[in-house]
Amino acid sequence: MTTAGDTAGDTTGDTAGDTAEDTLFHARLKAFEGRPAATAGRAKDAVNEPMIRHWCEAMGDTNPAYTGPDAVAPPTMLQAWTMGGLSGHTGRTSAYDELLALLDGAGCTSVVATDCEQEYLRPLRPGDTVTFDAVIESVSPRKTTKLGTGHFVTTRMDVHANGELAGTHRFRILKYAPGPTRKPQPKPQRPRPVINRDNQGFWDGVREHKLLVQRCTACATLRFPWLPGCHACASPDWDTVEASGAGTVFSYVVMHHPPFPAFDPPYAVALVELAEDVRMIANITGVPYDKVRIGLPVQLEFLRVDDTLVLPVFRGEAG
Ligand code: ZN
Repeated sequence: MTTAGDTAGDTTGDTAGDTAEDTLFHARLKAFEGRPAATAGRAKDAVNEPMIRHWCEAMGDTNPAYTGPDAVAPPTMLQAWTMGGLSGHTGRTSAYDELLALLDGAGCTSVVATDCEQEYLRPLRPGDTVTFDAVIESVSPRKTTKLGTGHFVTTRMDVHANGELAGTHRFRILKYAPGPTRKPQPKPQRPRPVINRDNQGFWDGVREHKLLVQRCTACATLRFPWLPGCHACASPDWDTVEASGAGTVFSYVVMHHPPFPAFDPPYAVALVELAEDVRMIANITGVPYDKVRIGLPVQLEFLRVDDTLVLPVFRGEAG
């Protein structure tokens, strides 16, 4: 059984270049090997059917061995019985924390779980009382991984059921100093508009720097945004008129949070009332976000956002 952090185990360097200082530090770390991390720890609950049922549901495991009068617990639940929860374990010693603090002090402030190994000696059954002892089994010499340079720390937990050894659980972490940060990624693109059969004509217009408003050919009602039918008379027939581009801010919000990667908050998003008496949502340019006001006169312009995206926006008239 391994975890997603397994790539940390892919070491690209070893101890060949270690200095005397490295060797000395590793000797201090190795002094923790064999020290108990938990002694006579006691599981918070006996092995029980509800926890088994929840586990099986979460894992999608329908094996009949885990239900009924002769049920056993799934072997991989071994660690579940010994978890300390928010309030922690009984029997926990200070050795593990001291070891982590020593590594923190040496700059190995980051941690990633790399893998765990379990051995099963006998099944756990509902009603079994679970106790455990844990020991710091090994601390590796300095290793360089893709994540950074640090030390692998392996703990071994012996799990007992009714006093009898039922299994062992080895858990390995890498405590490391993060490597150099990756080069910055290009800024994400703004989301693309969803173009479909109902609004294709609008976006075709935008590409030609025209703001097209639908007009019902039955009753002449203008509508925006684009829709398949007239909200006034339900006619499906329409043509378009090109908006003059003049408008006023009918309402607005200033976006602060949550920050989306492609945007630079704070910025104003307005509901603009066009001279043609329809409203549309757009960004306001030309005035600072905190100068946008209801009633502000605005004028349409087309903003080239990137190579493939042009958007209609409205420039506030300063003063
Ligand atoms: Zn109509």
